[in-house]
Amino acid sequence: MSRICVVGAGPKAAALAARAAVLRQKGVKVPEIVIIEKIGIGAAWSGVGGFSNGRLTLCSPAEKDVGFPYVDMIRRHGFAVSHEVFKRFSWSSYQVAVGAFAEWVDRGRSHPSHLGWSEYLSWVFEQAEQGVETGVVTNVTRTKSGWKVNYETDDGSEALIADGVVFTGVGDPRRVREIGDIPSDRIYDPKSFWENTSFFKTLPDETRIVVVGDGGAAGAIVAWLSQALADTNVAISSVSPLGTLLPRGDGYAERRWFSDPADWKDLSIEHRQTLLKRTEAGVISLRNKSIIDASYRVEYVLGKATEVTWEADAFGEELTVHVDYLDDRTPVKADYLINGMGFDPWSQLEMVSHPLATLFRHGKLRSEAEAGMRDDLTFPVLKSPTGKDLEMPKLHIPAMASLAQGPGMGTLGCLGLVAAAILDPYTK
Ligand SMILES: Cc1cc2nc3c(=O)[nH]c(=O)nc-3n(C[C@H](O)[C@H](O)[C@H](O)COP(=O)(O)OP(=O)(O)OC[C@H]3O[C@@H](n4cnc5c(N)ncnc54)[C@H](O)[C@@H]3O)c2cc1C
Repeated sequence: MSRICVVGAGPKAAALAARAAVLRQKGVKVPEIVIIEKIGIGAAWSGVGGFSNGRLTLCSPAEKDVGFPYVDMIRRHGFAVSHEVFKRFSWSSYQVAVGAFAEWVDRGRSHPSHLGWSEYLSWVFEQAEQGVETGVVTNVTRTKSGWKVNYETDDGSEALIADGVVFTGVGDPRRVREIGDIPSDRIYDPKSFWENTSFFKTLPDETRIVVVGDGGAAGAIVAWLSQALADTNVAISSVSPLGTLLPRGDGYAERRWFSDPADWKDLSIEHRQTLLKRTEAGVISLRNKSIIDASYRVEYVLGKATEVTWEADAFGEELTVHVDYLDDRTPVKADYLINGMGFDPWSQLEMVSHPLATLFRHGKLRSEAEAGMRDDLTFPVLKSPTGKDLEMPKLHIPAMASLAQGPGMGTLGCLGLVAAAILDPYTK
C-alpha cells in the first residue's frame, strides 16, 4: 500500500483524512495517511501555537468546512463522495453531533471562533479514526520513488518512507530587515504577537506600535489592537505600500472562483494574479476593515518598510522603521514593530533535499514552478539552467497552487477540492 505523509494537523490534513475515510469505507484502495504535527491538532487556530489567540472569529463561514464545495468534479469512484463527506464530516454534522445545531442556526449561522474551529478539526480526525503523530519534521530527502521524512519526537529522531509528502500551512512570517542588535521583545510577527496579547494590553500611553503589512495577518492584528487599546493613547501606525488597508473582494463574483475553478486556467496569468490580489493577498476581511475604520488610534503610513534600526540616546531607546516610497525614505519612530507582511511559502522548501529545492532556494525557477503547479498540487517538471529536466517525487504544496489551480488552494476556500486533488490520483 502506498503512503502519504502530511506535515501539520490543520484543516488541509483534516480534509484529507475525511475524504480518505469515506473512500476507504466504500472499498476504494486509499494510501495510508501519516500526519505529523509539531504542536497539536489545529495549533494555528486554537491559540496554543501562535497565529491566533483562539478567540478571533473565523473570516470564512463555517460551511467552508473540510468537504466544501461538495462537488465531485470527476465521479471516478462510482458514488457521490462529497455527499458521504457531508454526512459524516461537515460542520453541520458536527453541530448535530455536539447538540449545538439549533442554537447555531438560531444565532444566524455565526462564524465560529478559531478555537471552535480547531475543536471541529479534532472531531474530524476522531470521526475519521485518523491518528496524528506528535513530532517536528526537520527534513525530507528523496528516495528512489518517493521521500524519506525525518522528524524529531520526545523519544528521539524518527524517519518514515512515503510515496508523497504534503506540506500544509503557510510558511514562515516575512520580516523587515533588522539592522543592529535589536532586543527581541521589541519585534513581533503573526505567530509571536498572538502569544503576547496580554502584554500589549498593558502598554503605557504614548507608546507607538508600527504594524507593517496590508493583508489578512496585519488586518487581524490592527483590528485587535484598535479595539484592545481603544481607551488609551497608544498610537498604532499601519505601514503599507498604498497607505491603505483594502477590503477583500468578497461577493459572489469573486467567491465563485474558489468554489468552482474549472475555468480558472482560461484566465491569463496576469488576470489570475489580479484576482488573487483582490481576494487573498494584500486585502483584509470586511469585518476587520469596519473595526479599523471606526478606530481613532490608527494612522496610515505610505510605503514599504525596508529596514528597522535601533537607537539609544539620552532620552531612551527607540526603533526606527525606514519606510520607502518612490525616491523618499521616511523614518518612523516606534516602540514596537509587528511584522504582518504575510508568509513565505518558499521557506518550507528549506527542509527539502532535492536539486529543484536548491534552485528554488537561490531564487531560480520560482515563477515557472508556481505557474505550472500540476493538478495534484505538485511541482511541474522544470528545466535546470543546464537544460536538464528536473522532477521531484510527489511533494504536494497547496499554498503554492493558487495561481495555477484556483484561488482557494492555499486557504480554507475549497478544502474538499484540495483533498480530492491530492488524494484521488493515488486511488487510480
Ligand atoms: C489570524 C489568521 C486568520 C485566518 N483566517 C482565515 C480564514 O478565515 N479563512 C481562510 O481561508 N484562511 C484564513 N487564514 C489563512 C490560513 O492560515 C490558512 O488558510 C490555513 O493555514 C490553511 O490551513 P492548513 O491546514 O494549510 O495549515 P495550518 O492550520 O496552518 O496547519 C499547519 C500545521 O503544521 C504544523 N507544522 C508546521 N511546521 C511543522 C513541522 N516542521 N513539523 C510538523 N508540524 C509542523 C503547525 O503546527 C500547524 O498546526 C488565516 C490566517 C491567519 C494568520
